[in-house]
Amino acid sequence: MIPFSPPRIDQKIIDAVNETLRSGWITTGPKTKLFEKNLTEFAGNRATLCVNSATAGLELMLRWFGVKEGDEVIVPAYTYAATANVVEHCGAKVVFVDSDEDFTVSVKAIESAITKRTKVIIPVDIAGYPCDYKAILDLVSRPEIKNMFGAVSAEQEMLGHILILSDAAHSVGAWYDGKRAGNLCEATVFSFHAVKNLTTAEGGAVCLNLPEPFDNLKVYQELNIKSLHGQTKDALAKNQAGSWRYDIIEPGYKYNMTDIQAAMGLVELERYDNDMMVRRKQIFDAYAKALSAYEWAQVPVYETSDRKSSYHVFLLRVKGITEEQRDAIIREIFSREVSVNVHFVPLPMMTYYKNCGYNMADYPVAYDNYSRVITLPVYYDLTDEMVQTVMEAVVKSVGKIIS
Ligand SMILES: *Cc1c(COP(=O)(O)O)cnc(C)c1O
Repeated sequence: MIPFSPPRIDQKIIDAVNETLRSGWITTGPKTKLFEKNLTEFAGNRATLCVNSATAGLELMLRWFGVKEGDEVIVPAYTYAATANVVEHCGAKVVFVDSDEDFTVSVKAIESAITKRTKVIIPVDIAGYPCDYKAILDLVSRPEIKNMFGAVSAEQEMLGHILILSDAAHSVGAWYDGKRAGNLCEATVFSFHAVKNLTTAEGGAVCLNLPEPFDNLKVYQELNIKSLHGQTKDALAKNQAGSWRYDIIEPGYKYNMTDIQAAMGLVELERYDNDMMVRRKQIFDAYAKALSAYEWAQVPVYETSDRKSSYHVFLLRVKGITEEQRDAIIREIFSREVSVNVHFVPLPMMTYYKNCGYNMADYPVAYDNYSRVITLPVYYDLTDEMVQTVMEAVVKSVGKIIS
């Protein structure tokens, strides 16, 4: 069976983890701080805080911005549950919006969904392809929309408009307008979960890129404290001789990254551009080239004049099929010893959100994208031979079901 998304665990990763275990320092410490510095250099943003998941990072930013009951947060219906669940954690209302045909969030749909209660928009770079950040930033900067924004926290007042918080769980290393993900809007969250492009087993990062008059380093310090119980000194600082005394300035969270995770991340990041991304692009190109020859295949957009994907997963759609036919094709593919997936079942279809009153019929493009999609595997250790096997299984399975 060809697996869907095994992590790349080689001797270099094992050595880095071993070295950290033997170093005597395993929780947040020098490795995490170095990983933060390297991530900031890589993405080109102003400051980066590592946390233990993207979910934690998203919630940390919502809490920092003062999102609470009575507020609304705009989230694409087409995403993973984490993007919306964090809004629920804060007691705010999730406002789902539809997507475009290229899987990115619809800017038109965002525009119609904005109210005076809207505090944050969370665009999601599905499969690693960046959303239209320029259009979203233009939208929140429009005078009539800025005037509607009711700032109630110091942070909201300082920003003066709806916060754009990018869910870049898939798009580490992606490009838009000559800039990297992490540097495309005011705040961006990466995921380093085991199946993501760059992994630390579990982990995430908040990339800060706040405009004037914010001091991004100061916000980094605030978030750092918020991510560790509101404690004024982290474990490493407290470990310095005579430095035992600390204070708790708020009931913070427990979201810090460990140095064991960061040790993996440092190796992954170092070889990301010149190795990981190169292989991923080869696999994307191979799928796109071979599959576009078939009348039924709708190959995803992943490179345009101003955008470049991080080649996270390959979202193949089959033209003109129903959701049931798609499910049947997937069963056929699995019977040929190939693992595929679906990214994602839109959230209004999930029991919890359905019971909240959301109706999938309100998101027709997201439904159409979802009902015809089959996610093909893309990972470093997927060989050319395996890519051929995947494509054969897909072509034969589609042929069997739609003929
Ligand atoms: C994986 C994922 C997340 C959550 O990442 P974690 O690091 O597991 O918290 C959030 N959003 C999207 C779109 C994801 O795919």
